Amino acid sequence: MSTQKYDVRSVDVAVVGGSLAGCATAIRFSRMGHRVAVFEKKAVTEDSYKRLCTHFVQPHAVPLLDGLGLAHLREPGWSVATKAVFVTPGGVVETPGGYDPGQPDSYALNLERRVLDPAVREAARKQGVQYLEGTGVESLEEDASGWTLDTRGADGPRRYRARLVVAADGRRSRLAGLLGNPTESRPNERAVLFGYFTGIEAPEGNRSVFVMNDRDLACTYPLVGGRTELVLFAEKSRVDNWRGEERLERFLEYFDGLEATPSMAGAVPESPLLGYTDYPSQIRRPVLGSVPFVGDAALSLDAMSGVGCGFALQSADLLARSFAGRSLDEAGLRAGLADYRERFESTILPHADGICGDSLVGKDEATRQRMFTTICRSPELSQKYLALTGRMVQPAEFQQAFMRGLMSQRAGAARK
Ligand SMILES: Cc1cc2nc3c(=O)[nH]c(=O)nc-3n(C[C@H](O)[C@H](O)[C@H](O)COP(=O)(O)OP(=O)(O)OC[C@H]3O[C@@H](n4cnc5c(N)ncnc54)[C@H](O)[C@@H]3O)c2cc1C
Repeated sequence: MSTQKYDVRSVDVAVVGGSLAGCATAIRFSRMGHRVAVFEKKAVTEDSYKRLCTHFVQPHAVPLLDGLGLAHLREPGWSVATKAVFVTPGGVVETPGGYDPGQPDSYALNLERRVLDPAVREAARKQGVQYLEGTGVESLEEDASGWTLDTRGADGPRRYRARLVVAADGRRSRLAGLLGNPTESRPNERAVLFGYFTGIEAPEGNRSVFVMNDRDLACTYPLVGGRTELVLFAEKSRVDNWRGEERLERFLEYFDGLEATPSMAGAVPESPLLGYTDYPSQIRRPVLGSVPFVGDAALSLDAMSGVGCGFALQSADLLARSFAGRSLDEAGLRAGLADYRERFESTILPHADGICGDSLVGKDEATRQRMFTTICRSPELSQKYLALTGRMVQPAEFQQAFMRGLMSQRAGAARK
């Protein structure tokens, strides 16, 4: 490849994609002393943010903000510390207690993307990362000493060299296409609609309430400034014909018809309803050749699980840990990538099957009711269920606890 007509710039790590996973990766590699550039194809202004996200950050990911210089986002004014309450067909599952700032993985955060996205970009720049907005990576090629990336931005084409390239370019990952990382797609049988409102009373303790209603999930999230986000994951056929001006009315009527949510009588919309009708889960390999994939580029699951932001931060964390203390020479790269693949496959990937299973609406209702009745009867199992949905424990650990709980409840019933 000729480099004559290009002014070639050189970095240690080129991160493709400048959203959550990309910025988190860049900050961590820069802190290790590497020269890092982030390429973001969109033109980004100071307050640009991802709108199609309901920004519930699960407990496992809350402590990861600290390592990015974003500990302040846990404070009131930036986000709302919250805990999940699940209203299930077998009863209510809720997390007891208040909020202990010294134990950041004991609660979730309603952290809006309008706050998080500018903050993580700013943290990357402060850390010394070169953030190249409006610069898309169009192609890349590997040789014995690293990668050549061809980019296009407002100033035209530019060529960069890097030892390590990280794919953080989201669920439609161009790098996956260019490098041949296969995409496994799993169906999602629900659509989502969501919006922001004032005039809805926040539940006591700022709990986020998840109501399993029929085959839908209706969620209320308290936000900063006394606002509320309402989110409905519904069977597609239910919301298909909610159109035009009627849509908002039907949406609010749905929430008003639920016993566990506050009255919608005073609800005033702050924005039009947003959403999607088809959003299959997508699974890719965490490493393809010598390129690691992080965030949605690696795994983009049904948004009903509320895991994408957390997994974006966690995959960046796992990648950084895998390269800690290693150089970016050939041996260091090989070992770091093997380590990352192993960590990703043992920590994040095991959650995919259960989440994809929940995306199907055809589950037998009687079985679901039995399962949640078993969970609700046992405080220990209830806490394990919350730990699973907060991604604090692996699905296998929950399943073992569930089987133990089921057997002891059956034995108890037989003794009576
Ligand atoms: C409706 C909805 C609700 C959601 N709710 C939640 C929730 O409550 N909680 C939660 O944790 N997650 C949620 N998610 C998921 C979450 O939004 C994503 O998982 C998260 O944003 C992924 O971040 P990312 O950085 O990996 O990818 P993205 O945010 O998609 O960023 C990828 C970036 O790469 C850039 N890019 C792409 N190609 C190139 C290229 N060739 N060159 C340079 N740049 C490129 C893009 O412009 C983009 O900025 C939700 C998602 C949806 C759709």
